[in-house]
Amino acid sequence: MKSRLRTALFSFSALLAPTPALAEPLADADRKEILAEVDRGSPAMARNALQIWSWAEVGFQETKSSGLLQKDLKAAGFKVAAGVAGMPTAFIASYRNGDGPVIGILAEYDALPGLAQAAEPERRVIDGIAGHACGHNLFGAASVAAAIATKNWMVAHGIKGELRVYGAPAEEGGSGKVFLVRSGLTKDVSAMLHWHAGDGYSAMQGHALANVSAKFRFHGLASHAAAAPERGRSALDGVEAMDNMVNMMREHVPQETRIHYVITDGGKAPNVVPDTAEVYYYVRHPDQQQVADIMERVKKAAEGAALGTGTTVEYDQIGGTFDLLPNDTLGHMMYDNLKQVPLPTYTVEEQAFIDKIATTLPKGGRKQVSGVAPYSSGEIMSASTDVGDVSYTTPTAGLSTGTWVPGTPPHSWQAVAASGASIGTKGAEVASKTLALTAAQLFQSPETLAAAKKELDERRGADFVYHSLLGDKAPSLDYRKAPAAKN
Ligand SMILES: [Zn+2]
Ligand SMILES: [Zn+2]
Repeated sequence: MKSRLRTALFSFSALLAPTPALAEPLADADRKEILAEVDRGSPAMARNALQIWSWAEVGFQETKSSGLLQKDLKAAGFKVAAGVAGMPTAFIASYRNGDGPVIGILAEYDALPGLAQAAEPERRVIDGIAGHACGHNLFGAASVAAAIATKNWMVAHGIKGELRVYGAPAEEGGSGKVFLVRSGLTKDVSAMLHWHAGDGYSAMQGHALANVSAKFRFHGLASHAAAAPERGRSALDGVEAMDNMVNMMREHVPQETRIHYVITDGGKAPNVVPDTAEVYYYVRHPDQQQVADIMERVKKAAEGAALGTGTTVEYDQIGGTFDLLPNDTLGHMMYDNLKQVPLPTYTVEEQAFIDKIATTLPKGGRKQVSGVAPYSSGEIMSASTDVGDVSYTTPTAGLSTGTWVPGTPPHSWQAVAASGASIGTKGAEVASKTLALTAAQLFQSPETLAAAKKELDERRGADFVYHSLLGDKAPSLDYRKAPAAKN
């Protein structure tokens, strides 16, 4: 089933790959002006990125990080709507000049729990509950900088249309963008641009894994674990029985499935039979229907575990994201612009930082980034993103830039360290420039926007209707709070 799916996706991509040079390139003068605008804003971008890094606010709690980006956008003349789609830390910033296309740029700013790490090339834990292990501090700051530079260029040349920044919270598990899409806030956007921190330079447009996540809360009966165990029913037993069943299930799911869990509440003291326990699951697969089907089986394992241990269980879905739909029309434009942007050079200190981190990476890591990777489309990436839902409803393209030492995995301490250092902000500057050039070019390329829309319609099929994997569930604003803190 899976290999058939993959073959279908690849051949579809090959079939649709449009001629790269569809759009008029930006005039040299425009390109220089935009690059200079981004350069002018770079010190502020770097300051914002490092400030957000040091706050390291987790999903739906990014009050200061979101506020900082909103403040800069307002100061630059954008209108800002805050707290949109039921999410206090989401925002939409817009600049409009008459009628014309609406171009959107996504911004993220949530950190990951754990992995509090100094901006140093060796493992040093610092105070704090979280770290920017996916570089979303850079994502947010560089997207905002790109928008400000593009807006300045629009003003200078009287460019018609609307530029928007979507401040999207809780990418890591909270599915923030799904709520923006579901609320209809993105539906008039002609093209959406995004980027991600990475360990190299690429405008590859890949597929991601669809993802459904949920917390399973077991309830039992507390009792003295030695004096009266027969009067207790352990909620932790429920969790462990469920985990055992799901681990056996791994043998009987399609090959590309990913299932992972953490026990977010396992009781408090060994001499008390735990009356509550909680386990947090992710299920992923390239096909969203498979994800939904497998999560139904995981739910059955939870029910069976509760039955066998004399406990009860509640299911609380947290996230649900589509796979990612490539758009080669936009992807080629992004790639052509990425190739026009100079890549960073490093100081002696920065190179020493890079070399030292490289020694800590599994298999040594590569020490040099060798330019922009060739364009590709349709590969399945073993990761998920809530950009998936955006990509099914709006023509969408992204890029990744070398903010981390080559060979660095996302969600590692090495990623946190580089995301808080100047090598991170230098890589982010390349993203700012590529996004700004692409947005500017799109405002002047109605034929590209039309072709991108046509490609989206063909890829998702004539009968496509958007139904979020979250149904009508409200954002799980407390999903990063400890179970006890919610009572
Ligand atoms: Zn991540
Ligand atoms: Zn990420």
